[in-house]
Amino acid sequence: MNNTEHRRITDVGIDMDGVTYPFYEAFRKYCEDKLGKGHYPDPQTWDFYKTWGLELDQFHRLLEEGAKTHNLFSSEPPMEGVQEAWEILRQADVRIHVVTARPYTSWGQTAHWLENHSIIPDHLFFTHDKTIVSHVATGESAIIDDHVDYYLQAEKVGIVSVLRNQPWNAQLINARRAENIKEFATLVQKVNNREIAWLKPSVNKSYKTLLR
Ligand SMILES: [Mg+2]
Repeated sequence: MNNTEHRRITDVGIDMDGVTYPFYEAFRKYCEDKLGKGHYPDPQTWDFYKTWGLELDQFHRLLEEGAKTHNLFSSEPPMEGVQEAWEILRQADVRIHVVTARPYTSWGQTAHWLENHSIIPDHLFFTHDKTIVSHVATGESAIIDDHVDYYLQAEKVGIVSVLRNQPWNAQLINARRAENIKEFATLVQKVNNREIAWLKPSVNKSYKTLLR
């Protein structure tokens, strides 16, 4: 038996918005309330606010205000498969770290939301550095995120990275993907049970040529 066969994922980093929490659903309701019924199509790109007729500074202002007046970061239920994913990871004896780049206005809400939905992680990190999970991991680590940059950032340092399918990350070809967080949890479980081979980096070697 060689070394690679002993590799086990001990820690996972899980993103909030677009993976665990349907942020834009909450933001749409807030905009309808604040700005009136308008055209707020399902986001297709990271800067979806433009298609909603918003400028960047206006978007930031709404984010800050909506967090206070409409609990933007805690008003919606979890996305599909979240509780099941937690169960699978717990049964697989994997430590769960929620890692989110949410603004400070969301910090209290985020903690309460996780507790209220019985989605309790081992740690909760507010940071843009998604590689933090590899610093606290006791063995190998994995993450799931919906942002191309974070996916690439994590893969670059050897974290098993999975991109949660969303229209705004479809441009990255050859990424390792999951339809939802439950699929990610099942993947981790299968790796640890040695039902599938160790997951090697998927795109980083030549990712610049892989962006459409
Ligand atoms: Mg996200």
